[in-house]
Amino acid sequence: MKVIDTVSALRQYRHGVTVEQSVAFVPTMGALHEGHLALIKAAVASSAVVIVSLFVNPSQFAPDEDYDAYPRDLDRDLALLEPLGVAVVFVPSVKDIYPDEFSEQLRVSVGRLGAVFCGISRPHFFSGVCSVLLRFFHLVQPNRVFMGEKDYQQCVVVKRLCEALFLDIELVLCSTFRAEDGLALSSRNQYLSVSERKEAALIYRMFCLAQEFFDGSDTNAGRCLEIMRNYLMKHSSFRIDYLDFVDPYTLCPRMDLDDEGRFLFAGYLGTTRLIDNWRLRG
Ligand code: AMP
Repeated sequence: MKVIDTVSALRQYRHGVTVEQSVAFVPTMGALHEGHLALIKAAVASSAVVIVSLFVNPSQFAPDEDYDAYPRDLDRDLALLEPLGVAVVFVPSVKDIYPDEFSEQLRVSVGRLGAVFCGISRPHFFSGVCSVLLRFFHLVQPNRVFMGEKDYQQCVVVKRLCEALFLDIELVLCSTFRAEDGLALSSRNQYLSVSERKEAALIYRMFCLAQEFFDGSDTNAGRCLEIMRNYLMKHSSFRIDYLDFVDPYTLCPRMDLDDEGRFLFAGYLGTTRLIDNWRLRG
């Protein structure tokens, strides 16, 4: 496993990869957990060469967000990656990715899909994600990119980015990796206190409640969402940011439940913001 920390060294490495070798790319912000490792294992199973990036991207954080506090532990991440069969770990510096003011200011503008749901409380977020991913896609030139459905809106935005910019990339979406009690693994879970961590599992219980509602043959999304909201508010201290049922491609709200749409959720426990989503089983 090579650790590459400059753009020029990554370019050089990439030039040495032959056209017969398929390249899979897994972008991450590090602080790796089993959810990331599941993506990386799927990437290794799919392709001859796997490149993983560890980069906490400043352009997707607002000034009042947790960029400085975001967990970073390179040695631990490298130790977790070592046995997996990854060819390259790319750990560029911020200066390498955004070398000057022009580069810092050159951003992708995402429009409506980046302005709804997470985009309301985090208006810079999807523009920042697309801006860094586009740079990485140009450098890595992957055949496949592996991303987690845990960040569902991000998956949709990146899918649309690839389509709109005619990028010849297969986007592989991997299902959400959950803890035993159902909480989606996230690097930010480590911010939770012991009691908040228990409450956080109620997101999953809330989705199970929606599944029971749907299994009972009621397809009224509004009624179902009300039951879900009431459940979470009664049993936890969550401040709900949003909870909705949406079209899986346009993210427009849907009135009728089905097994294609998605429930999208974001909420705060104390100062920690958690997101999750759910697709009903038919
Ligand atoms: P992050 O480091 O949070 O930017 O995440 C890097 C990639 O891992 C993204 O594609 C995430 O969607 C994915 N990911 C994060 N948590 C999970 C999880 N619990 N299950 C599956 N994928 C995940």
